[in-house]
Amino acid sequence: MCAIVGIYGNENAARLASLALFSMQHRGQEATGISSSCDGKIYTKKDSGLVSEVFTEDALTYLKGNMAIGHNRYSTAGGESIFDAQPVSAKYKLGEMSIVHNGNLINKNEVRQELIEEGAIFQTEMDTENLIHLIAKSSHERLRDRIKEGLNKTIGAYCFIIQSRSKQFVIRDRYGIRPLSLGKLKTGGYIVASETCAFDLVDAEFIRDVKPGEMLIFADGYDEPESIQLFEPEYRPCAFEYVYFARPDSVINGKNVYRTRENMGRALAKNDKKDPVKVDMVVPVPDSGVPAALGYAAESGIPFEYGIIRNHYVGRTFIEPTQEMRNMKVKMKLSPMRSLIDGKSLLVIDDSIVRGTTSKRIVKMLKEAGAKEVHFRVASPEIKFPCYYGIDTPNQEELISSRMTKDEICEYIEADTLEYLSIEDLKESIGNDANYALESFDGDYFVTK
Ligand code: 5GP
Ligand code: MG
Repeated sequence: MCAIVGIYGNENAARLASLALFSMQHRGQEATGISSSCDGKIYTKKDSGLVSEVFTEDALTYLKGNMAIGHNRYSTAGGESIFDAQPVSAKYKLGEMSIVHNGNLINKNEVRQELIEEGAIFQTEMDTENLIHLIAKSSHERLRDRIKEGLNKTIGAYCFIIQSRSKQFVIRDRYGIRPLSLGKLKTGGYIVASETCAFDLVDAEFIRDVKPGEMLIFADGYDEPESIQLFEPEYRPCAFEYVYFARPDSVINGKNVYRTRENMGRALAKNDKKDPVKVDMVVPVPDSGVPAALGYAAESGIPFEYGIIRNHYVGRTFIEPTQEMRNMKVKMKLSPMRSLIDGKSLLVIDDSIVRGTTSKRIVKMLKEAGAKEVHFRVASPEIKFPCYYGIDTPNQEELISSRMTKDEICEYIEADTLEYLSIEDLKESIGNDANYALESFDGDYFVTK
């Protein structure tokens, strides 16, 4: 997953970048980093940990200059090496550059093998390093042409921000799978960030989304970024950003994420009207199930209750590498509101079921706390296929919906009934105005080599 940010033309560049990363912490909690540029030198600070831990006053003082790029890294099971933290910087013929990347390159291994055959050496496991090599090897004089040449060999879902000693280059892949928006800072200069929730914290005005296939160039002496359409766009924004990933207050492709989630809940309620279940309350799995549960409650007229309390000192649970740790984390994170649910029938809503860990635990916990019935509703379709476009879903075997039918899953999680959102209703809830990327649900891997 990950979050990226670029700040250009502001004397507090690194500070603003760190604030933006702080507001996008939900996109990655494993490592974070910022590179600033000042007087022809690039300064980088990166480490594992949270934004608030890594960017101390000392770190921010070290990161001088009026331009900065930053990154939050999302963990993948196992590969939590600090060498894989971003930005990645390198010295090459034209000087120095630093890169941040959000997404996933599907031809990473082929390109890397080719580069290795030609004698390249790699420091990390990251696909980001491929682009650095391609840029360094290019025979073009200007960096923009080198980037273009490198990108011609780069296939996948990506948003890159490349910083030289005096410029910033922002690129979004031609499908626009991962979100990326442009804003203007009220205190001067520009911001580019994965999510618009970053703009509010740094006092920036939203200008527009970066276009699919577009390169923006920020350079000294220009009032506005230069825009070059590098690739023919074929817009396929990721539906999972709306389902789970993005923060509810963010706006992607003109749509407020919270509203789309509320619509997903409404659609589940409409569907249940055909064959109603008798329940006393709608209970969200916090936090990710809250907007959908509010939508469900509004549509059905059933009261919304906080039947599950979340401990906010536990982060996102999904990322723990082993099943025992995931079970324990769910238990530490979520507790039942006994007095509220004892003897009651509940309609419980979460945004998604991936492995089935969370839902199984929750049903068990609620029943142990006295719930008479637990009807589980999922505000997304069944996740049957791994995502290769930047969301770290597990292998196909670990995806419960790839192995079991709905009824089998219902039995496995010990719910009284189980329903998912249909793919049609998901599209409808987001707005049905773009050809959304739905590969986790329908297996349509549209990015081809
Ligand atoms: P499960 O427990 O079924 O494996 O995962 C479902 C839970 O994980 C849901 O509560 C959902 O909010 C959350 N979730 C779904 N996708 C992701 C993801 O890509 N990353 C993280 N951190 N959590 C996820
Ligand atoms: Mg959740």
